[in-house]
Amino acid sequence: MKDQIVVIDELQRIDTELSELEVHLKEYPERISEFEHELETSRNTLSELKTQLEQFNENKTKLEQELASNEETIKKSEQKLFDIKTHKEYAALQKEISDTKRTNSELEENLIDEMEKIEGIESKISELEEELSAKEEEYKEKIDEIKEKLEEVKVQYTPKKAEKENIASKISPEILPVYEKIMKRDGTALALAKNEICTGCHMNIPPQLFNEVLTLSRIIQCPSCKKILYCEEEEKQSEAQTA
Ligand SMILES: [Zn+2]
Repeated sequence: MKDQIVVIDELQRIDTELSELEVHLKEYPERISEFEHELETSRNTLSELKTQLEQFNENKTKLEQELASNEETIKKSEQKLFDIKTHKEYAALQKEISDTKRTNSELEENLIDEMEKIEGIESKISELEEELSAKEEEYKEKIDEIKEKLEEVKVQYTPKKAEKENIASKISPEILPVYEKIMKRDGTALALAKNEICTGCHMNIPPQLFNEVLTLSRIIQCPSCKKILYCEEEEKQSEAQTA
């Protein structure tokens, strides 16, 4: 059974390495997509702002056109005033002119508002564009770095997985599922038995059972934590001397 312990120890070492690699296999792509997601969010914000800017510019153009057309109307009406014969008609046209002028001064205020909005959004856009291009550069470097690491992990993983299969085939079929179960639960399946104590859970091992660990006539599991027990050579020797 000593050979089995050696093989289990070897398998445990490979499994530990495999699970570290698996952590990276999961973690690296997640980190890449986090960076990509952040860039995507910034790009979306920027594109929303640009759509808003287009809308503001359209509003501005409409206001300018309306203002210009009203100016034209005012000019024509003022020209017409000279040709009007009746006082009533004159007063009506004058009212029309002053109404249009009032409308125009409202339009001018709106135009100023719109121009302020455009100015604000333009500076926001150029600020974000700068931020985004700096971020794109920074993240591209980071992403490339992670991708490189991910490739390295993939290169290591496949042969190690094969190595695991090879080692696992050397473990007796009754012990392998026991090992797998404890390994999955605790991340380690072996525990050193020392001075009748399991170093995995620090509980006492009954003397009879401990003797069996020393002789290793069969695979012994700790009664408390169920880990597969083994002992060091010196312990066996000192036990042999006292016996
Ligand atoms: Zn234990």
